[in-house]
Amino acid sequence: MMKVGILGATGAVGQKFIRLLQGHPWFEIEALGASERSAGKKYKDAANWIEDVVLPEHIKETVVKKCDPAEFSKVDFVFSGLDSSVAGDIERSFAEAGIPVISNAKNYRQDPTVPLLIPEVNPDHTDLIKTQSFSKDGKGWIVTNPNCVAVPLSLALKPLYDAFGIESLILTTMQAVSGAGYPGVASLDILGNVVPFISGEEPKVGPETRKLLSSLSGNSLNLPDFKVQATATRVPSINGHMISATVKLENPPADLSELKEAYQDYKNPVGELDLPFSPSSLYNLHDNEYYPQPRLHADWENGMQLHLGRLRKAEVFDVSFVAMAHNTIRGAAGGAILNAELLTKKGFLK
Ligand code: NAP
Repeated sequence: MMKVGILGATGAVGQKFIRLLQGHPWFEIEALGASERSAGKKYKDAANWIEDVVLPEHIKETVVKKCDPAEFSKVDFVFSGLDSSVAGDIERSFAEAGIPVISNAKNYRQDPTVPLLIPEVNPDHTDLIKTQSFSKDGKGWIVTNPNCVAVPLSLALKPLYDAFGIESLILTTMQAVSGAGYPGVASLDILGNVVPFISGEEPKVGPETRKLLSSLSGNSLNLPDFKVQATATRVPSINGHMISATVKLENPPADLSELKEAYQDYKNPVGELDLPFSPSSLYNLHDNEYYPQPRLHADWENGMQLHLGRLRKAEVFDVSFVAMAHNTIRGAAGGAILNAELLTKKGFLK
């Protein structure tokens, strides 16, 4: 078993890590870290547990540490669910101390040496780790997983991009309240309402999606140049970010059935690696026009599946669809665990 630490363990994403890692066949939790406000307290007193399962007994009594690499000397690597206002310095200090970091924060996503990773989309980008120089012996490095909108969007676009090329796209997100962390959006702002703006969200969508769909040649990425016009909205669902997108393809197919076939024929590049967090079926193509729905489908396949619906020929551009995935599982903690599993299979984590 590998010993893991969780930075930001008291937050919404940190709690999801704790829940998802219970009974993991390869990883066990060794240490929990959070801010000075929480450090020194037992986890049960430091965190307001919002998961709908019982807080594991051994975690309740674990004393939360400061996010200082010296306090994490027994771990093989750390997952980070740190707030981005502090993630930059703290994650760097762990990598410099020789402790690999698998992060959910935005700080290093656009660093050209740092893989922005979705195993089913760009598993070869892990090779960028070899170009990092955080620690002299190369033992410490950083891998990031994308923003919780870029995850479902890139998974939805990848088969279309490979089969037909992409020229541009326009999308509107309908993002669940859990995406804002805890305590997140005030109930008086969101109940019975839709808020048509999420600060800082829209500028991440295009650059992250282009980096995910880029090809690695040598030590650098060839970024595609398709344009992305995103509108990010907050809706009163709890889990599951939905995206409505319309895409202009470079070489659109004459027949709609070819769009579906692109998904059915897509060969999941990590499908045969037996990664514990891989969904058995990556794409769920819903024929029912009322699906997907966050409340009904976000938890399917342990929250790791990409749901697609309303796949249709568009009058403006070429194709329209709705995509949906669980934001704190596929879009955060579960995606990071899948990244760690791939990095283990590839020998980066030992
Ligand atoms: P959150 O609920 O606000 O949790 C933030 C965590 O950071 C808490 O554990 C907090 O500890 C810790 N922290 C804050 N200041 C700190 C400091 N000075 N030193 C050490 N730790 C500190 O946020 P979240 O929703 O879990 O998000 C965590 C990260 O994941 C963010 O970077 C976010 O952008 C990213 N993310 C979130 C989602 C999502 O759907 N929620 C999806 C993808 C990515 P205390 O409890 O001690 O304050």
